[in-house]
Amino acid sequence: MRLEDTLLKELSEAHGISSKEDGIRKIILKAVKDHVDDVHIDSMGNIIAFQRGSGGAKLRVLIAAHMDEVGFMVTGFDSNGTIKVRNVGGIDGRLLPAMRVEIGDKKVPGVFTWRPIHVSSHERDVKKVDDMRIDIGVDNKDAAKGKVKLGDMVTFVAETVTMHGPMVRGKAFDDRAGCVQMIEILKSGPYPVDLIAAFTVQEEVGIRGASVLVEAAKPDAAIVLETTASHELPQDEDEPDQTSVTKMGHGPALYVMDRLTIYHPTFRKHFEDTADKYGIPYQYRSPQYAGGTDAGIIHISGAGVPTVAMSTPCRYLHSPHIIMNLDDFAHGIDLVRHVLTDLTPDKLER
Ligand SMILES: [Zn+2]
Repeated sequence: MRLEDTLLKELSEAHGISSKEDGIRKIILKAVKDHVDDVHIDSMGNIIAFQRGSGGAKLRVLIAAHMDEVGFMVTGFDSNGTIKVRNVGGIDGRLLPAMRVEIGDKKVPGVFTWRPIHVSSHERDVKKVDDMRIDIGVDNKDAAKGKVKLGDMVTFVAETVTMHGPMVRGKAFDDRAGCVQMIEILKSGPYPVDLIAAFTVQEEVGIRGASVLVEAAKPDAAIVLETTASHELPQDEDEPDQTSVTKMGHGPALYVMDRLTIYHPTFRKHFEDTADKYGIPYQYRSPQYAGGTDAGIIHISGAGVPTVAMSTPCRYLHSPHIIMNLDDFAHGIDLVRHVLTDLTPDKLER
């Protein structure tokens, strides 16, 4: 299949900054409705889709992937008509000069301002996001206010394209890639277990949407589908640590530990055994006290939930130009399908 025709392209190019996931919800609802027994939107805005199992295993499994992406919110206007913003989620200010954006529901086109080389005589310090401005092509405050409102969301603009072989580039693979994996997993169900598929909101601003899931879903186990950083390219010599937490093309990455979670050892072993049994490549995301996923709240909710997080390695996360390997992405789908098919209660014991 050509990438151009896929849901991955449609979803990664759609706009869905944290708390403004409406457009993403619409696309996902349409994609899942024929493959599930029930689907509803909870009070947070999470999509909760239920697929009844064939009954082979009396287990309920929650799968989660977040719909939101990082971006900005309009916070003010300058007299010359440029727009002030603050970031929503973690964004490196060094990326922003000359980046294309769209603002609000009307998708007003804009660009982050910078001083062109013709008139900038010295190296400039990197500005914080709060000090950056967006140019929407007007020359005064009233004109700007006529096009853009305070609180409007600002989204990166970037097409999803094939680069070389399985390598693709686009925005918001974090975590629309996980959303598409979950949709593909639902399409090949039902499985012996009952599946509760949660497409969550507001992960990028502090894992908020997932905090209500366990209470409602009462799962026996949970699987979080994410993306994680890969930066195995040559680094600057003055960088103290050149090790990458994952490698592109080495399969989906299983988490051992991150800043919020030490993952369930027996359930994770079921992933490893399943991958070995079916010849699916996988790797470990090297354990570290950094990063975090929706698992951070899920695994300590209710009476505690055995949770595994699996990520597709990506370069340049939280930028408009994320690079991902479609083979890693597809192997992740394949692995979770087998994990669900072969899951029994003993795989969840400690
Ligand atoms: Zn993410």
